[in-house]
Amino acid sequence: MLEFTGGARARVPRLAVVVPCHNEEPTLPRALATLRSLLEQLAAEWLIAGDSYVVCVDDGSRDRTWPIVMAEARQSPRVRGIKLTRNFGQQGAMLAGLLESDADAYVTIDADLQDDETRIREMIVKYREGYDVVYGVRGSRERDSWLKRNTAIGFYRFVNLIGARIVYNHADFRLMSRGAVDRLREFPESNLFLRGLVPMVGLPSTTVTYDRRAREAGETKYGPLRLFGLAWEAVTSLSVMPLRLVSVIGALVAIASLVTAAWALGVRLFDPQYLPGWASTVLPIYFLGGLQILCMGIIGEYVGKIYLETKKRPRYLVGEQAAEPVPSAQVVPLNERRRSDRRQGDRRRGAQVA
Ligand code: UDP
Ligand code: MG
Repeated sequence: MLEFTGGARARVPRLAVVVPCHNEEPTLPRALATLRSLLEQLAAEWLIAGDSYVVCVDDGSRDRTWPIVMAEARQSPRVRGIKLTRNFGQQGAMLAGLLESDADAYVTIDADLQDDETRIREMIVKYREGYDVVYGVRGSRERDSWLKRNTAIGFYRFVNLIGARIVYNHADFRLMSRGAVDRLREFPESNLFLRGLVPMVGLPSTTVTYDRRAREAGETKYGPLRLFGLAWEAVTSLSVMPLRLVSVIGALVAIASLVTAAWALGVRLFDPQYLPGWASTVLPIYFLGGLQILCMGIIGEYVGKIYLETKKRPRYLVGEQAAEPVPSAQVVPLNERRRSDRRQGDRRRGAQVA
């Protein structure tokens, strides 16, 4: 974490709370009610501006998540919605919310409100003190299963070991200033792992500790396989250490085979009882074969990442937006909005010519 050098911020910030939502029909109404009243409270205390809002990013839900967001957005200027064209994953959804919203400070939080939303107040206070990034850090993992707790601890240890900088026990509950989000924009990578990228932004940061609650409704979208995938994504997008490990393994095996070759030669030359060995031939073949495939797999993983990066595919695509300030219709398909913007622009240009 950088030494804090910034000055206090006097201006009351406009806050955007970014909520990635994938099939969150069971949790969303309650979460929105809670967040809305929290924003109202914070605005009443002059901690945030009156035009602060929650932005729900619908990440390709197949349930009624988007209709719920639209209905809320129609009712209240405090709720807005961005609908992605398909499922881009939580990281893409969060990035869409951050890059497509206009605010002075941004908080990302899960739709199930497992992270303690009341800590947003503390985050804002830290922001007003001058910090650009405030990480929400879990105090205890008592509610997690033994397996999840220990694999999580192992993950953070391993990631630190391979030299990536991620904040211990921090998931994606964090506040970022506009400056931090603008700098995040400069990172063009498609292999997204925001927890690893945000520390690379390098602005003054601090932490706020909280206890994570159990999910009240709906189901977790991260089963063991997907969690493992996320961890692997984190490791391979933050560090090339596994590639170096491949070289180290290669060197060790080369040394070991030299020693074995010397031993085999010794036996062949000096042992009168010498019998052609089956085990000593076959076992190294299996062992080396396995090792080679493993190493190729690790290298292949990086080649795959390079492949994805060179394609420069969009990290998210916005389909519709729902926001109170949009005149006439609440929801306007993006391409139509662009067209009407263009028409208005033409009209304006026409007016200037006339
Ligand atoms: N999420 C998403 N896209 C996905 C998977 C999840 O936007 O493909 C959202 C989800 O709606 C929730 C957050 O990411 O708001 C965290 O998901 P979840 O609560 O299932 O994860 P857990 O808390 O179990 O790690
Ligand atoms: Mg959750």
